[in-house]
Amino acid sequence: NALRCSSYLVLTSCRFDRHVHGKKVLVVTNTTIAPLYLDKVVDALTKGNPNVSVENVILPDGEKYKNMETLMKVFDKAIESRLDRRCTFVALGGGVIGDMCGFAAAAFLRGVNFIQIPTTVMAQVDSSVGGKTGINHPLGKNLIGAFYQPQCVLIDTDTLNTLPDRELASGLAEVIKYGLIRDAEFFEWQEKNMEKLMARDPDAFAYAIKRSCENKAEVVSLDEKESGLRATLNLGHTFGHAIETGFGYGEWLHGEAVAAGTVMAVDMSYRLGWIDSSIVKRVNDILQRAKLPTAPPETMTVEMFKSVMAVDKKVADGLLRLILLKGPLGNCVFTGEYDRKALDDTLSAFCKS
Ligand code: NAD
Repeated sequence: NALRCSSYLVLTSCRFDRHVHGKKVLVVTNTTIAPLYLDKVVDALTKGNPNVSVENVILPDGEKYKNMETLMKVFDKAIESRLDRRCTFVALGGGVIGDMCGFAAAAFLRGVNFIQIPTTVMAQVDSSVGGKTGINHPLGKNLIGAFYQPQCVLIDTDTLNTLPDRELASGLAEVIKYGLIRDAEFFEWQEKNMEKLMARDPDAFAYAIKRSCENKAEVVSLDEKESGLRATLNLGHTFGHAIETGFGYGEWLHGEAVAAGTVMAVDMSYRLGWIDSSIVKRVNDILQRAKLPTAPPETMTVEMFKSVMAVDKKVADGLLRLILLKGPLGNCVFTGEYDRKALDDTLSAFCKS
């Protein structure tokens, strides 16, 4: 479903009418993105479609606002504007806006039409596809949410031109992930084209986004509610999440933590004898070319990793399951059956204490 809905269009020339149900649209965006793209999206929504009226709600920018209080602003606007069940919510922004708007669309009047217009690499290659929506709780990330698929995902690679360099690189960590877990040919393409991606070449990006969305959509269509296979999309995320939590959210971007976490998962796979050393080198090389970290911050300790990993969502019956590479490039496993010593050795190798 996610794949069927994905299309690659330029906002200014895009026809939304096929995807907008009813006459009322609510665009949900933030204070950074509104001045850049809101007018364009409103034009595209109303051009040739005079019966459509567009409201907007501009939220504060940042992961720290991905909470219940901000979500209420979306509902306030929807109710004040007398939106009915036939309305459409449009998420215009990165993963934070997409996750919040999607959850609002799932809950408002028990579910209204929803369109994603992702504007970060992270959102274009990952978060806008697959239907996971939600907000954070003070005690943990993404703990409140719903599975809710968008009617469509509209991607305009031109929006990447205004994205800060660090945000761009952070999203590439997820692109690299797809190659490692299931698509060796895509990984090889990235090895040949990383400089083009870093230079924001639109053709290279269009290809990388398309291939990433296809990979994600295939996995999600086989395991939408994450009973197993979907977890493989979290390569590097268990170590990465420990870095985000231990180091304090906001210091490192999500993709930066995932990149360092991927190096650790790959190191552990090698220690287990599951991959050969050439893969370890290729992973380090490609992440460095994407200007992503290949080791956790020096302040991270073994204990910090262990305490966060102990409460990971992938712990089952006290056993931490990890996504590890196994076999030739492009193959991985999601398993709790590994030698604990390899995990300890990896943690010791990457931490000073
Ligand atoms: P983000 O949404 O915070 O965007 C990053 C920054 O870039 C923000 O300051 C934003 O305002 C700005 N920005 C966005 N588009 C821009 C543009 N075109 N030009 C200039 N600035 C722009 O971060 P993100 O990395 O896109 O998403 C991270 C979020 O996604 C997290 O909350 C994470 O939990 C979530 N996520 C969800 C899924 C999922 O499956 N639903 C998957 C991965 C991540």
